[in-house]
Amino acid sequence: MRTEGILSYTSRWISNSCLNRGGNTMTHNQTISRDLRKAGLKVTLPRLNILEILEGAEQHHMSAEDVYKALLNQGSDVGLATVYRVLTQFEAAGLVTRHHFDGGQAIFELDTGDNHDHIVCVKSGKVSEFKDELIEKRLAEIAEELGYSLTDHKIILYGVFQEEPDSAESSIS
Ligand SMILES: [Zn+2]
Repeated sequence: MRTEGILSYTSRWISNSCLNRGGNTMTHNQTISRDLRKAGLKVTLPRLNILEILEGAEQHHMSAEDVYKALLNQGSDVGLATVYRVLTQFEAAGLVTRHHFDGGQAIFELDTGDNHDHIVCVKSGKVSEFKDELIEKRLAEIAEELGYSLTDHKIILYGVFQEEPDSAESSIS
């Protein structure tokens, strides 16, 4: 019966979350549900699962396929087409931002409202973020010099990722 399927699915999701989050599951689950409702979306399991992945991801720039694989690792059976559909719904609801970086698939991240910029590794697709007040100040000046009042900007740098500046020693050994 359909309902049973959903129930067992729910408990599996909760037990997976317990492993990751040390007992704050219900609170966290409720937080995510609230986020969905605030965005005007009905709470469904695929939406809960996908939002949880996005919120918990260490590398929070994810393609639909990354999200799909993360769900698979959690034992979830949400299909790739559903992942795409939900991410598109999230984008329309303002929950996530979609990036179109050169040479890759669309990348999604939670829309936290901070307007950061990105650098993308042309070899691995790794994405890092930065925010630079000097650059932003200069951009506003340039816009003004051209007769514009700046309302938004997007900077994407492309490069080859070498190593984490902080872990240079450990990566060498
Ligand atoms: Zn970002």
